[in-house]
Amino acid sequence: MVEILSVMKTQEISMIKGYHAHLYYDGASKHHAWKLRREIEGRFVGAVVGRWHDKAMGPHPVSFYQVAFPPELFAEFVPWLALNRKDLKILIHPNTGDGYLDHSANAMWVGPSLDLNLDSMRKRYEERLRKEAAGEAIAAE
Ligand code: ZN
Repeated sequence: MVEILSVMKTQEISMIKGYHAHLYYDGASKHHAWKLRREIEGRFVGAVVGRWHDKAMGPHPVSFYQVAFPPELFAEFVPWLALNRKDLKILIHPNTGDGYLDHSANAMWVGPSLDLNLDSMRKRYEERLRKEAAGEAIAAE
């Protein structure tokens, strides 16, 4: 039991420097995405609404825009999104400095989830783990 507990390292909340909400839409839901965007800009001081991306980009499999927001806004903004999303699918992820974990293990969804395209992020993540492991092996010699 002691061994198990020692490997179960928890992460500190202070790792989270901010959050992104990615609001995914299609042709049918774009109008509602517009409406929410205007509301967010008017209501949530401190939230930064990004550009429209009318196509898949990076890990994001369909059209979306991003809202960056500080941790202080989470308790108000995320439930508001849940109550007002209608058909939109929304990814909420923390920004801890690890893009792959933030978009996979650390991700939260408001509404149904989408399969993100994580292949290139995963490759960079695995490459980094290999380099860290190699670095530790050299340091231990
Ligand atoms: Zn993001």
